[in-house]
Amino acid sequence: MTPYTADGRKRYVNYRSKHKPLPCDRPSINTPEDIALSVYAKGKYNFEYFMNREYAYSRDKGKCKCCGRTFSEDVPKRCHHVNNKLPIERINKVPNLAWLCESCHRMVHNSPIPSGMNAKTVRKIENYRKKLKM
Ligand SMILES: [Zn+2]
Ligand SMILES: [Zn+2]
Repeated sequence: MTPYTADGRKRYVNYRSKHKPLPCDRPSINTPEDIALSVYAKGKYNFEYFMNREYAYSRDKGKCKCCGRTFSEDVPKRCHHVNNKLPIERINKVPNLAWLCESCHRMVHNSPIPSGMNAKTVRKIENYRKKLKM
């Protein structure tokens, strides 16, 4: 299976949609367009990123790693690079990917944390901030 040919991409989509249901039996979070675009992507949003964010999503069970909310239309999700300075061959490994809700993701990237926020969530956000500075 390769992302570099139309046939390979078709196979990937097919593999995801028919032959091997994901562990929690949900549709793929990647659209065929995501996969097609990733082939030409220079930098960290490459094919490996899209493949592995799928695994990371299953690992995180469709919930924000900081606040624990389940993703939905009201709780949009973002796939975050825990250490975004790693070289390209390491940056998209599953352990370096974390699914966060959009608002926690913004706070990880330094938007202010509201004062009434749950202490556990704040700790997790601060932890991700630290990892970005490593
Ligand atoms: Zn969150
Ligand atoms: Zn991020």
